[in-house]
Amino acid sequence: MKKIEHIGIAVKSIKDADQLFERLLGTSSYKLESVDSEHVDTSFFKIGASKIELLEATNPNSAIAKFIEKKGEGIHHIAFEVEDIHAEMERLRKEGFQLLNEQPKKGADNKLVCFVHPKSSNGVLVELCQEIR
Ligand code: ZN
Repeated sequence: MKKIEHIGIAVKSIKDADQLFERLLGTSSYKLESVDSEHVDTSFFKIGASKIELLEATNPNSAIAKFIEKKGEGIHHIAFEVEDIHAEMERLRKEGFQLLNEQPKKGADNKLVCFVHPKSSNGVLVELCQEIR
């Protein structure tokens, strides 16, 4: 794995959280993007080589809505950038990690993504992401 690509934060309102994170980070969100397959709206902030991704549910069936219901707003996942997502998924499978999807799927910010079940990684939802070239 190459670096922490971003940290995903579940929020109730992107509009409110954007303002808060602008004040916190001293920089503005550079991109708003809806990911229909995940039922989320996202907002991205660049911090050096990494990013912060704010996630708001667009409907009650979204994993983000369920997360906030259970745990409240807060850190939702850590995303690691990988060179070859298929190879990395295969490596993690062999290491005994439980992947949440069989095949990589299209995520926000022009990425192929795959999630690792938090049960198999000390309670941390891990996202692998590979830039779509
Ligand atoms: Zn993410």
